[in-house]
Amino acid sequence: MASFDRATIIGVGLIGGSLGLALRARHLVQEVVGVSRAEKTIAAARDRGAIDRGTVDPMAGVAGADLVILATPPDLVVPMAQRVLPYLRPGAVLTDVASVKAEIVRSVEALVGPQSRVMFVGGHPMAGTEGRGVTAASATLFEGTAYLFTPTPRTDPGTLERLSALARSLGAAPVTLDPQDHDRTVALTSHLPYLVAVALMGITQTATPAAGPAFLGATRVARSPVELWAQICRLNRESILGALRVFREELTRLEGALGNGDRLTTMLENARKARLRLVEPPAPREMT
Ligand code: NAP
Repeated sequence: MASFDRATIIGVGLIGGSLGLALRARHLVQEVVGVSRAEKTIAAARDRGAIDRGTVDPMAGVAGADLVILATPPDLVVPMAQRVLPYLRPGAVLTDVASVKAEIVRSVEALVGPQSRVMFVGGHPMAGTEGRGVTAASATLFEGTAYLFTPTPRTDPGTLERLSALARSLGAAPVTLDPQDHDRTVALTSHLPYLVAVALMGITQTATPAAGPAFLGATRVARSPVELWAQICRLNRESILGALRVFREELTRLEGALGNGDRLTTMLENARKARLRLVEPPAPREMT
């Protein structure tokens, strides 16, 4: 069972709103406070059941919280951490959910400082949809997914364990990764698939009635909000370039194998076996 009383979520959108819904539905904290720029987002989050109360003032929002989750777009995580850090209570746990970690973790750790009594651990739930905002949020979004944490030598092991326990309570499997390894890994498993979807749409610009399930599945993620992905691509550029290089090499191998039945069959069979070993999370649903 998790061990937090009041969670403040800054940015109650798809991920922040889903965390609020899940924390409340599973009674994992006493109270969820939401912070947003707009009163109407707070009202929507309250109506949706994602928060108990909300404010547009981040400093007031974090007062008394023992868990603060930064769930804004990636570009705002560090500036927001800088704003609220002086208002966090001693012993408070600070985490974020941004899709890119190395630069964010380095910057927030520098802000927190070695003597601080605020405990920071970077986080990234491997859950999501192409939706945005609290209306797209779901209490079950994290079930059956991996919740990545990116500790560093400065991370307090007890805090990492508390957050891992919280992730397990959300139905997710906590996984720890070095921040740089995280960025290289998700460049391959998340950022490359997004760019492949973009490329597929790029070469078939017009809506075609011949778009079958394979095409629709492979390009679904291209429907995602562009602002978010533009930030991710900029923040993880180096690792994404590496992933694109590896992908291009694999396409070249496939191209060569097209003239060689055995080699092609081996490549297809290897891919099939590897894909069959992947476990898909259940579709998000209403929690009763
Ligand atoms: P989203 O649905 O657009 O939510 C972002 C929220 O941040 C919005 O509700 C927005 O509300 C709020 N916000 C923006 N600026 C703010 C500010 N200055 N102060 C307070 N709140 C602010 O985006 P999301 O998909 O949840 O992404 C949020 C984070 O989760 C990102 O860091 C992303 O990398 C990460 N993530 C996303 C996914 C995914 O699949 N989408 C998966 C894993 C991790 P207002 O505009 O009303 O302020």
